[in-house]
Amino acid sequence: MQEKKGIAILGSTGSIGTQALEVLAAYPEYFDLQVLTAGKNADLLIEQALKFQPNTVVITDESQYQKVKDALWAADIHVYAGQEALCQVVESNEVHTVLTALVGYAGLKPTIHAIEAGKTIALANKETLVVAGELITQLAKEKGVNIYPVDSEHSAIFQCLVGEFHNPIEKIYLTASGGPFRGYSLEQLKSVTLEQALKHPNWSMGAKITIDSASLMNKGLEVIEAKWLFGLEPEQIDVIVHPQSIVHSLVQFEDGSLKAQMGLPDMKLPIQFALTYPSRFRTDFPRFNFMDYPQLTFEQPDRSVFKNLDLAYQAMTAKGTAACVLNAANEEAVAAFLAKRISFLEIGQLNSDVLNGTELVLNPQYEDYVHADQNARVKVAALL
Ligand code: NAD
Ligand code: MG
Repeated sequence: MQEKKGIAILGSTGSIGTQALEVLAAYPEYFDLQVLTAGKNADLLIEQALKFQPNTVVITDESQYQKVKDALWAADIHVYAGQEALCQVVESNEVHTVLTALVGYAGLKPTIHAIEAGKTIALANKETLVVAGELITQLAKEKGVNIYPVDSEHSAIFQCLVGEFHNPIEKIYLTASGGPFRGYSLEQLKSVTLEQALKHPNWSMGAKITIDSASLMNKGLEVIEAKWLFGLEPEQIDVIVHPQSIVHSLVQFEDGSLKAQMGLPDMKLPIQFALTYPSRFRTDFPRFNFMDYPQLTFEQPDRSVFKNLDLAYQAMTAKGTAACVLNAANEEAVAAFLAKRISFLEIGQLNSDVLNGTELVLNPQYEDYVHADQNARVKVAALL
């Protein structure tokens, strides 16, 4: 029998993490769950650990260490706490693939450690590639490490490229649902509430990415993510709004042919493909029915209203630490919006002010990204 694939899930208590556990549970003969980690949700981490019996868990909130330790003592599961522990547990010999399902900048450092240790990366944490795409892709190349996308659009592109890796891409189209405020004017966006922004029409996701989807920053981050995953120039990446979220993205080849990957919106599918590539495992997920979708529609995103999309292109073109600055500003702005400290439109305003008001480092090292991230957060705090 084939050896089982050792898996570490960083951020197992989140939307991607819990769905990944469902995928793993369906193929116990194929996967060997080694590591689970969570930020603050100790109760769910304990429940998951008792059910799935990993070798090791990490709770990054150190104040909850004792609680987790006590709960898992009898189960003989190693328990660690703190952000640094994430970097160590991914290096374990038993881990083959690290699924980065934690949210935000916190994903960067453990991903670097995982790549340095030669682990395959199943990447959900798009912020890692937005912040330091050049460093990450260079390091992965040096170490011969594969990064498989989990983000549905990038998984779609990747699936279209299977069997085509020798054929150059002319361009790609990333599809966007348009979020809850598709079709809104700037005037209408002035008064939208947090509760409205948290209601995504097609996907149920963590709070941060749900707000990013409403502001189209998520699509901006995905444009940058695609640049690094597929080695593209900004002008080769286009965004098209597709409200039904059935066509998950498209590749256009040099002969003019377009390939799309389609299916019902269900993140378990891209999560699973990132973990089983190049194989496809049989699932009982609901199947697409044409009669439920007599029309698939496409429209241009309204860039005059959703300014975050252009900010992402601006940052991608500016290179260096620009996208890192934009990401940090956005993380802080979204946190402020979630705390009801600013309005929805102020997110984009803060992003723009911080990106345009920051001097960039053009050939950044790791420390430059750390400083750029910190400085941008300080700037947002000062502007609030
Ligand atoms: P989520 O908020 O539901 O879960 C985040 C997880 O990370 C939780 O387990 C949490 O405990 C942990 N975490 C949070 N902050 C942390 C920190 N500072 N240090 C360590 N761990 C921390 O988020 P999500 O929706 O599952 O998204 C996770 C990542 O996947 C994001 O980068 C997101 O952009 C990406 N993604 C998500 C979806 C989706 O459908 N949810 C789709 C595509 C991409
Ligand atoms: Mg996506």
